[in-house]
Amino acid sequence: MNQLTAPAAPRLLADAMLGKLARWLRLLGYDTLYLQADDALLAHRARCEERLLLTRDHELAERRGLDTLLISSEVLEEQLGQVLRAIGAPLEPARPRCMECNSPLRELTVAEARGQVPTYVAQTQTEFHQCPTCQRITWPGTHWDGIQQRLERVRKIK
Ligand SMILES: [Zn+2]
Repeated sequence: MNQLTAPAAPRLLADAMLGKLARWLRLLGYDTLYLQADDALLAHRARCEERLLLTRDHELAERRGLDTLLISSEVLEEQLGQVLRAIGAPLEPARPRCMECNSPLRELTVAEARGQVPTYVAQTQTEFHQCPTCQRITWPGTHWDGIQQRLERVRKIK
């Protein structure tokens, strides 16, 4: 890795109770591992991979030698707001990651997408991404409207 490039966004690890949050963070471009595992394994992975551990578990959040963020709310918007404030990152999507598997998405041209998406989508959309791992193709219409609305609500929560 080239250390001279801009500081990378923090890498995250979400515990079993935060699956929805993990999917949204991926969509926003954050490298977010989601693990349904016991505390020991979560702590191990967070430490080894230098990830900020997002958890709703007080005990886990207080473990020494770990970077943790205790997620206080059960409401997704508030959780997102808390994480984004804590890591001081912009709300703009950088390079989105696959909601399902966390792989960085690659851009597809309209020509490449044609034939792989419904015809009306190929005719009306201009921006496509594909997951290199699970092959899912997404376009802004699939969920960007919902995301923008949700992020608006996140911005309003102070
Ligand atoms: Zn994927």
